Amino acid sequence: MSKLMRSVLAGLALFALACSSTPTLPQSGSPEVGADAEGPILILVSLDGFRWDFLERGETPTLARLAAEGVHARRLIPSFPSKTFPNHYTLVTGLRPAEHGLVANNIWDPATEKLFGLSNRVAVGTGAWYGGEPIWVTAERRGIRTAPLFWPGSEAEILGVRPSYHQPYDGDMTPEARVDLILKWLELPPPERPGFLTLYFEDVDDAAHTFGPEPSAELAGALGVVDRAMARLVEGLERRGLDDRVDLLVVSDHGMASTSPERVILLDDYIDLETANVVDWNPVLGLWPSKENLDRVYEALAGAHSHLTVVRREEIPDRFEFAGHERIPPIVGIADEGWSISSSSDVARCPRCFDGGTHGYDHRLESMGALLVARGPSFRRATKIGPIENFHLYNAMCIVLGLDPAPNSGDPARVWDLVTPREPNTGS
Ligand code: AMP
Ligand code: ZN
Ligand code: ZN
Repeated sequence: MSKLMRSVLAGLALFALACSSTPTLPQSGSPEVGADAEGPILILVSLDGFRWDFLERGETPTLARLAAEGVHARRLIPSFPSKTFPNHYTLVTGLRPAEHGLVANNIWDPATEKLFGLSNRVAVGTGAWYGGEPIWVTAERRGIRTAPLFWPGSEAEILGVRPSYHQPYDGDMTPEARVDLILKWLELPPPERPGFLTLYFEDVDDAAHTFGPEPSAELAGALGVVDRAMARLVEGLERRGLDDRVDLLVVSDHGMASTSPERVILLDDYIDLETANVVDWNPVLGLWPSKENLDRVYEALAGAHSHLTVVRREEIPDRFEFAGHERIPPIVGIADEGWSISSSSDVARCPRCFDGGTHGYDHRLESMGALLVARGPSFRRATKIGPIENFHLYNAMCIVLGLDPAPNSGDPARVWDLVTPREPNTGS
């Protein structure tokens, strides 16, 4: 077959893929995506707690430019619970928290009788906590090196694979140093250079927890910090001649709602905290009472407070898509938007702690909506799309990297809103 013929056929196949209502994802090694001589480069950036509408505050000119040039979603809908570890891991697996097993930031695993928490370095680095196949594992197996800097799960060996480049999470590493490390990895010669990299910035989440999501000098300052980090990244790519060939996918994990000392549910008003075994507190309660105490705790809490929904694990409403994993607590409490769950002693210790912002609530609330901006050769140009759930992005990233996706819950048809079918590489 002539090169021209091959090119025409590949082009037709791509056209059919793009037009089909239920397109099939390209097979691994297919020539039509991510196939230029040196391979694709995708940088996934997470701006923790960056609510979708923070982009409209005029504090983030670099992000606004990327959004105008590439794909910008009205909002990225997180998965329930709208917390950091569950959602970061959903983004890289295409599985929802009840499917991958990171069902909260604080988890009790009944099988191993172990606790998971963000400051528990051993747990965070232990592969057994992470179900599913993160995209860096798929990529490494295909010979694409990866560098998921500070991404939840990146420190662990998962399915026998570790990313080629990774570092233990260090919240004190400056945004500039993080960007410079990514740029340094990109300077490696092609066999060692990673094709999938990530960046993570917690500044906006920190500020919005303390000062709330409404406009303030402090939140504006944090928005400026992450925007300058993005500018440093883009300039660094330009200086290395990589700007045109790198795909940037900028997301956040969830949004943020305002809290108030006037809206605090005191758990010890209703139950004896000793018998309830509270594994996670706010704003989603995870209770693991002993068998003997289970019914008593449930009955004391169900309907006790008009802004707290308390359900047994079997009764969690379907719309949360939060069922079927043994790590889901037997009793779950979900506070209404803007309400906090605490105890009298914690409130006495720090009344100001409830005058800011938090997240974790019903993932479909607008206030929990996250950011999605995608710019680069694989993404559509100057395209606005409507709200999209975060578990679809895994398939989009697989297309950009030319990977066969692992089984996941994303709908392949959704990714064509984002991804541009590329010119086939005819090998000439
Ligand atoms: P959240 O309140 O759910 O948004 O959690 C945000 C916090 O998660 C950050 O302030 C960090 O302290 C923590 N965090 C983020 N990434 C990591 C990581 N890779 N390892 C450990 N902790 C992390
Ligand atoms: Zn977060
Ligand atoms: Zn947070």
